[in-house]
This record gives sequence, C-alpha cells and structure tokens, in this order.
Amino acid sequence: MRIVSGIQPTGNLHLGNYLGAIRNWVRMQDEAQARGGQCLYFLADLHAISMPHVPADLASNTREMVAALVACGIDPERSILFNQAQVPQHSELQWLLNGTARMGWLNRMTQWKDKAGKNREGASVALFTYPVLQAADVLLYQATHVPVGDDQKQHLELARDIAQKFNNDFGSEQAPVFTLPEPFIPPEAARIMSLRDGSAKMSKSDPSDMSRINLTDDADTIMQKVKKAKTDPEPLPSEKSGLEGRPEAANLVSIYAAMAGEDVPAVLSRFGGEGFGRFKPALGEVLVERLAPINARFMELRRDRDALDAILKAGADKARALALPTLDAAYRALGLVRG
Ligand code: ATP
Ligand code: MG
Repeated sequence: MRIVSGIQPTGNLHLGNYLGAIRNWVRMQDEAQARGGQCLYFLADLHAISMPHVPADLASNTREMVAALVACGIDPERSILFNQAQVPQHSELQWLLNGTARMGWLNRMTQWKDKAGKNREGASVALFTYPVLQAADVLLYQATHVPVGDDQKQHLELARDIAQKFNNDFGSEQAPVFTLPEPFIPPEAARIMSLRDGSAKMSKSDPSDMSRINLTDDADTIMQKVKKAKTDPEPLPSEKSGLEGRPEAANLVSIYAAMAGEDVPAVLSRFGGEGFGRFKPALGEVLVERLAPINARFMELRRDRDALDAILKAGADKARALALPTLDAAYRALGLVRG
C-alpha cells in the first residue's frame, strides 16, 4: 500500500484544519505502516500558483504547514514529507500527461467550472490543467491509494482515466507504466463549525479570532474562547437526536468527542442534563490537554527555519528517488530519447 496525498500550504492553522485534515494524515500514516506500506505527503505549492497569490506568503505558509504537520504527528522518518517545488518530476510528468489528457475531460471538471466562474478567459492555464498535475502527483509514485473527500472524487477518476489511456496507448499489457490508484475513504473527517456561529465553518478567513481555536493559542486563550463560545440556554440533551436544531451545542459536543477520542453518545451520556456552565470548562480542559503538546512543538518548530528546510529537503530527496524510474519509463514509452 502506498498512499499519496497533498495539501495546499496555508497559514493560521486552526482546530478545523487539525480535526478535518491533518489528524487523518496522522492516522493514515499509522495505518499504512501497520499494513507494511508507506505514505507520501506533499505540500501542493505548485498548485497554489494557479490562483493569485503573494509569493512571500506562499513561502512562509509552506514552512508553517510543515511545522504544523510535524507538530501534529507526521513523522518525517516514517512518511515522506516534501513540497512539490523541490521535486521537478511532478512538473515533468504533468507535461507528458498533457499529451494524454483531453480538453473535453478537463472541461467537465466541476472545480474548474466553480473556480473559473464566468471569467474563463481570465483564468490561469494552470487552473485548467490543475487536475493533470494532480494526476502526475499520484501516478509518479505508483500510488495504490489516494484519500479523497467528495470534492476530489472527480479528479481521482480523471487520474485513473489518464493512467489507463496512457497505459493503453504507450505501455504494454505485461508492463503498464502507471498503477491505477484506488480511492481511500479517510476515517470520517470532522467538520468543525465557528465558535460564534454554528452554521458557518470554522475558517482562517473569519474576521473574528474568537470564532476559531488556532494551533498557536495558549491555554488561557483557549479557555477564554470556549467560555465565550455561542450557545443556547438549554441544558445538553442525553440523546444525540436532542442536538438537532442546536448547531452550536452540536458543534461543541462533537469537538469534545473528537478531542477526547469518544463518540457523541458517550459524551452525552456523561453531560446530558448539564448546562454549559459545567460543560464548557470540561471542553476547555480537554482542548488544552490535547493541544498543549502540539502547540509547544509547533511554536518551537516554526521558529527554526533551518530545521524546517532540512525536513523538506530530506523528504524531496527521498521522493525524487522514488519518482525517477516511473518518470523515465514514461519518457521512454513515449519514444522520447533519453541519454
Ligand atoms: P479558507 O477560509 O481560506 O478557505 P480554511 O480555514 O477553510 O481557509 P483551508 O486552507 O481551506 O482552510 O483548508 C485546509 C484543510 O483543512 C482542508 O483539507 C479543509 O477541508 C480542512 N478544513 C478547513 N476548515 C475546516 C473545518 N472547519 N472543519 C474541518 N475541516 C476543515
Ligand atoms: Mg477553505
């Protein structure tokens, strides 16, 4: 089993990013290892330039994201952690795959339609060919499994179509150039809502810092934010169904469950009938207890730019070594002369 997954580098990481994305990576790392496999995790910095961006922010967000991933439990000794820009084989393979991908296939991608909107003429070419780079990202490593949420299913299908057509057109039955990756449905990803509004996602772009718990928040800040979190006047229900129509209460309970490693009914069996005056301090404590070690490691790492760059470089060296044979096979299959 070889799992390949990428994430766009972002700064200002919060609890939603941790529970919705990063924690799944840590679990997959453990599961892959238990099954004798391996994970390759990359920062999709090449994808990030498909939209308008600030170069200085991209560089600092890339390092910030590495610090967060390592602080949250991605082990650069066990998983291969790198950024695309240091492994030029991604771009090279993308070009080779551009000969196989069809305009019609890309035109049907809903992410392209959504992100380009009405302004197709003004969208970057990179935004259009983005899914071909994604195909290269996974095919380059003969990935067997690619974790996909709902929004990325279509892109994984496309990667499989590209691999199949390339194998058909240029490979041989005995020696296909690419492995067709299977979707890997990640363990249920929590969707964390804003602490100020149970109907809005917790997000780094919310202007109110009170709406989210940041990985940089210290214990006092976390306790304050939980205390001020929006709630309703009712006590907690003892059954899950009692949370219907109470988005703020439901959100706080599911945060508790996710952080304590329990399920929602177990949390409610303990706190059902209690008011938020009792529940909030308990929630704050669980959050502080679980986030404190992550916070400490994160704060230390993000100050050490040399250490972060060394992690990325070592990861890129390993990724390149894995990528080269497949890239070379693709060049040769196409009849391109290589020394
Ligand atoms: P923005 O507001 O700029 O969209 P964001 O806070 O939503 O930022 P992203 O950079 O879009 O964060 O997302 C990074 C990863 O974290 C993605 O995998 C995304 O699905 C996940 N994620 C973001 N917010 C949440 C959330 N509130 N709950 C669960 N997962 C989340
Ligand atoms: Mg987002």
